[in-house]
Amino acid sequence: MSDAINEDGPRGNFYTGMGLDRADHLRRDAGWLEARLADPESRFVPVRRAHNLIRRGDDARAAWLDGAGARRLLPRAAETIFLGLSGETAYFALDVSAIEAPEAEPALAERGEFLDLRVVGPLLERGEGAILAYARGLVYWHQRHRFCSVCGSPSTSTQGGHVRRCTHEACGVEHFPRTDPAVIMLVHDGERCVLGRQKVWRNGMHSTLAGFVEPGESLEEAVAREVKEEVGLEVGEVAYHSSQPWPFPASLMLGFHAACDHAPLRVNEQELGGAQWFSRAQLEASPEDDSFRLPRRDSIARRLIEDWLAEG
Ligand SMILES: [Zn+2]
Repeated sequence: MSDAINEDGPRGNFYTGMGLDRADHLRRDAGWLEARLADPESRFVPVRRAHNLIRRGDDARAAWLDGAGARRLLPRAAETIFLGLSGETAYFALDVSAIEAPEAEPALAERGEFLDLRVVGPLLERGEGAILAYARGLVYWHQRHRFCSVCGSPSTSTQGGHVRRCTHEACGVEHFPRTDPAVIMLVHDGERCVLGRQKVWRNGMHSTLAGFVEPGESLEEAVAREVKEEVGLEVGEVAYHSSQPWPFPASLMLGFHAACDHAPLRVNEQELGGAQWFSRAQLEASPEDDSFRLPRRDSIARRLIEDWLAEG
């Protein structure tokens, strides 16, 4: 595998390379955070019910608010989360899910409309897509962790939104944002590879096999188990490729190429609608229509396939 595969930049995976300094050391500085929230130069990334604010046009763009634009919204925001710094400029995610009619809020409506990153993500510039994914993932975590999982008391956001602390004095446990590791693997025999499809996917869509890592399992073991469960193959050499944050809603995708002897597939019909071996020529001739299409351009699955094709 060439070094170029794991470099950031143009060949990095979508939703990486956001270009913000996470500035962890500033998360504990409540005074500094308060000043930045009031700073007209700060930038605010609105998230509403898992949708991001997008400026439509010839090119879809992420839409930020400046301090003046955010001022009226801040008192109604469920959370403000410090994302990081671009130079001296602080970026915050702003959870505006409580706002019923964003189209009636000039500060929001003038900037764009709320859209699903799963739909517009591939159209965005990489760095902007990464910031929106980061904001969406953290807002989702806060929305789903309002109560302490130890004692059931309400929890409250602290450290710039990167920790939630239980409000019960005798408990006081700190909870941290969750990322669920999932393995995703292109299984191949050198000449052909295995792609499957789930019944709920759009027509023609085929992709690599994938699954969540279970407790007490290494990544390599998860790859071997999932491949065995889904198509009945025994994998040989498992080579790490790259990773991708996938906040839909809270995954980290860990990508692999998994070598395998060619054998008939035993497709697990509870997990997959179907799976087949495909030759390089078949994939290179993909019509990208309802009869056959490859995974979406912003996915690591697509990258695993394209890089394998390029090695052929
Ligand atoms: Zn508690």
